Amino acid sequence: MNFQKEGIQDRARGAILGTAVADALGAGYEFKPPLAKDIPVVFKSGAFDLGEWTDDTAMMICIAKAASRSDLSQSLDAVAEEFYSWYASHPKDIGIQTRSILADVSKNPTAKKMLVASIEFVAENERAAGNGSLMRTAAVALPYLSNPELLGQVADAVSSLTHYDLTAREACTIWTKAIRHAILFENFDGVQLAINELPAFRQTYWNNLLDEAEASAEPSEFTKNGWVVHALQAAYKAITMTATNTPEHFVLGVEAAVRVGNDTDTVAAIAGALLGARWGYSAIPASWLEIVHGWPGLNAADLVDLADEITEPIWG
Ligand SMILES: [Mg+2]
Repeated sequence: MNFQKEGIQDRARGAILGTAVADALGAGYEFKPPLAKDIPVVFKSGAFDLGEWTDDTAMMICIAKAASRSDLSQSLDAVAEEFYSWYASHPKDIGIQTRSILADVSKNPTAKKMLVASIEFVAENERAAGNGSLMRTAAVALPYLSNPELLGQVADAVSSLTHYDLTAREACTIWTKAIRHAILFENFDGVQLAINELPAFRQTYWNNLLDEAEASAEPSEFTKNGWVVHALQAAYKAITMTATNTPEHFVLGVEAAVRVGNDTDTVAAIAGALLGARWGYSAIPASWLEIVHGWPGLNAADLVDLADEITEPIWG
């Protein structure tokens, strides 16, 4: 593959920073009703400080840190260790499902222990398809820009550590492949292309969900967005309804995602990852980059360094 370093590096950074800024912007609106179009979206403090990202970005950073020090396709123990060390830092928020798995694995976490706990969670809970693995998946795309098949497997495996449910795993596979595609080819076609790679009956399932999103009037119609399906549909709708052929699409799409209400930081983080992958770090407003920060004491510049560290081997 003929990589054009500058643009690809900008968009790889965009996937990571897109998650972080959207998460931090959405955090001020979490668990609120949908926000009307005429009310501006601004950074707000509350449970989190002004500009502070939440668990979505923290868990994405865990994956990114693990990817910077080991090959995730060989072993996910580094991810398990990073997740556990974040959990042990007593984060301000953590998903119910993720907390349950991490509480189960004790102080010496391994990927295998997490997977066993995660499979048990699915067996014991009817509602195991939370949005908590989709929200953090941007970092999975970066090490596998030149290997889409491996990327699909790793996206599935990283989801499985906390979210073993098939729909949650497929959502991660679809979105991570779409993020890779957007970084390389500067469009959103990767969502459909990834669905086309699923078994036939699952293609029908996901195509129907995308059709439903396209036919909807607003992303806020997908009210149960703690569920991975509604979270993906709301993020997808926020992206498609604001589409322009200019980088302003990044801000328009993220703001539309924040307006959905309920799990706003996560829907925004999901949308922000793909929008950032398409439009790049350079499309993110400087004022947003200046304000964002969070666990473990990082800011936007640190996340740029982390993204670059993961993609560095690609340039050889
Ligand atoms: Mg969150």
